[in-house]
Amino acid sequence: MKLSHTPVDTIEMFNRDIFVKRDDLLHPEFSGNKARKFAYFLEHDFPGVCKLIGYGSPQANSLYSMSALAKLKGWSLEFYVDHIASHIKKNPSGNYGAALANGARVISLDTLDNSEGRDTYTYIQEVVQPHEANVVFVPEGGRCEYAEFGVSKLAEEIVQWADENELHHLVVFLPSGTGTTALYINKYFVEQGISIRVLTCAAVGGSAYLTQQFTELSDNPKHHPEIVTLEKKYHFGKLYPEFYEMWKTLSLSGIAFELLYDPLGWLALEHYLNLSAEDVPILYLHQGGLLGNETMLPRYTRKYGDEMVNCSN
Ligand SMILES: *Cc1c(COP(=O)(O)O)cnc(C)c1O
Repeated sequence: MKLSHTPVDTIEMFNRDIFVKRDDLLHPEFSGNKARKFAYFLEHDFPGVCKLIGYGSPQANSLYSMSALAKLKGWSLEFYVDHIASHIKKNPSGNYGAALANGARVISLDTLDNSEGRDTYTYIQEVVQPHEANVVFVPEGGRCEYAEFGVSKLAEEIVQWADENELHHLVVFLPSGTGTTALYINKYFVEQGISIRVLTCAAVGGSAYLTQQFTELSDNPKHHPEIVTLEKKYHFGKLYPEFYEMWKTLSLSGIAFELLYDPLGWLALEHYLNLSAEDVPILYLHQGGLLGNETMLPRYTRKYGDEMVNCSN
């Protein structure tokens, strides 16, 4: 199975046209940037391997994507988390529910006798891995050099599309978590001598932290995408009325976006466009993650009401 060549749509936002690369449409079960990051595992053989091990939050897009990967590979998935909130356990939905339906084993450290205060990463290193020979281990959010394989293919697709459409100046915009996707796209452009610029914003931990994450993946500053910084500090996973407003406006375009990264991404893009004098074409990368809306949207409607929701997909 090969994952590639998602379409590009055009939507009107901020009184201009913006291209949207639809990586949310990559594959019905395996889409968005996690599928790009995990493509290496899908497209290579791992003789003898029968288990995938990961860790993170029980609501993470990466949990669902790893469960889809494991299913496609015929592997089992063990995913370690610190804790599962009781309402999620009682009523599994979103990424967590879909991962369970794919057969994932989500193991909560607070239910184990031998966790002894370790965090999930340390627990896997010290307790799990010594007994497991034939496993593939993926760091949190897929932040690893294996991600370069699939993400550089995405970059190549963007170059091809820009060539076909004779877009010689282009800005690719995407919101970052670990920054892995943005960094490897930009690294590809720099190494191939392509003039497309990559702009991003930090959804997790702020701009200085994102730069640190970039440095861990490449110590060549030329590989680091430009970071757009908003004056207001937003905390990952928290609800903000301006996020919800942005999401509702975006929904009018007919494309459903997700609620953790995209509202900040579009706010940062708006900020950039307000500051920038040049009128360069923008390609916004839709990185999937829509299953998370099953849990995020009820949180928003409980807090701010739903009278204005036009597209609840
Ligand atoms: C994981 C994720 C991101 C962040 O990707 P990084 O490569 O960690 O920066 C952004 N958007 C969505 C929808 C995601 O699932």
